[in-house]
Amino acid sequence: MIDDVFCKIINKEIDAEIIMEEEDWLAFKDLHPAAPVHILIVPKKHIGSILEIADSDGKLIGELIIAAKKVAQKMGLDKGFRIIINNGSHGGQMVPHLHLHLLGGRPLGAKIVRDPEE
Ligand code: AMP
Repeated sequence: MIDDVFCKIINKEIDAEIIMEEEDWLAFKDLHPAAPVHILIVPKKHIGSILEIADSDGKLIGELIIAAKKVAQKMGLDKGFRIIINNGSHGGQMVPHLHLHLLGGRPLGAKIVRDPEE
């Protein structure tokens, strides 16, 4: 059985501040927000990372992008937002369950990649 922290949130074994939920995905507030709005969107099916996405997951992955649109609208992010998917250790992924970070609520700047040594 896969037992990462997001599976536990999906199974309601641990609490999270849930923003929206549909049959195949859940959106909840990030515990350590990096912006005024910082929401995680996760598929209920356990997929470890982008590298574990199967060809048959195409519809689900599309639904996650539509979920991001719905959550952004619900949160009033009409001025814009950013979606980030961290992958693997070099990508800064800490939780081994595919998730979209939805960030907004302030100008985020144009820089996408920041050198950690900077
Ligand atoms: P990543 O580095 O892309 O794997 O992002 C994992 C994110 O999950 C981080 O931004 C954490 O702050 C967040 N996080 C970890 N545990 C929890 C939790 N129990 N509830 C909400 N967010 C969490």
